[in-house]
Amino acid sequence: MPGEERPDDPVGVFVAAVRANRPASVLALDFDGTLAEMVEDPAVAVPLPGAVAAVERAASRWGEVAVVSGRPLRFLEGHLPAPEVTLVGLYGLEIRRAGSVSEHPDAAAWRAAVGRAVELARESSLERVGIESKGASLTLHYRTARDQAPAVEEVARQIAAATGLLVRPAKLSIELHPPTSVDKGTAMADLASRHPGPVGFVGDDLGDLPAFGVLSGLRSTGRITLAAAVIGAETPAGVTAAADLVLDGPAGVLDLLDRLDQ
Ligand SMILES: [Mg+2]
Repeated sequence: MPGEERPDDPVGVFVAAVRANRPASVLALDFDGTLAEMVEDPAVAVPLPGAVAAVERAASRWGEVAVVSGRPLRFLEGHLPAPEVTLVGLYGLEIRRAGSVSEHPDAAAWRAAVGRAVELARESSLERVGIESKGASLTLHYRTARDQAPAVEEVARQIAAATGLLVRPAKLSIELHPPTSVDKGTAMADLASRHPGPVGFVGDDLGDLPAFGVLSGLRSTGRITLAAAVIGAETPAGVTAAADLVLDGPAGVLDLLDRLDQ
């Protein structure tokens, strides 16, 4: 980060701080591209072998461990059933904490608009584009139809204009999301406010940048933080630029979890 003093070894500082006070420490991780490899059909994305066990083990020892994703809660619960793991779905619109599920008021308010957006996407001229309806949000995937990117952007703009939803670009996909202030940054800030110790976040996409930004702000107040970017073939440049540490795919995330577990 320009203008900020960073320790020479932010990872070593973070690891030492966590080891010294694990019950006060917080770790949040994205799902797709972070715990699970990116796949052509997002419906079949699964965590890397060993990832769920590592996250559950950390959750049993840290103050709090959360998976923070644009996916709906129901998808995340299917892969991470253990209630010790906090789940933040739809960028913060849905939360499961200590097994108890809550929903942000904006989610309920925008479900009808998202339903209309799904209809408009299905009625559109888009071909070979995946339409992922997530209840209170919608994603158009063009990973298997990359030539369709301009058409997807145009249709997303039209749907946004018709429904009031906002367009959020991501890896080879476009999200249509309620115009809410809730994002991974507010989710990260909430998690950090619940625990006094070190706070870390691991992510790989544009939607993760607000969480990195919150960590940067916490660092300026003296908090020990770690922002880790997971790189792969599709990682946007801004993500690695905002991070303290670059990890090579979900396997690199598992290595970090292992190091943090020592
Ligand atoms: Mg991701």
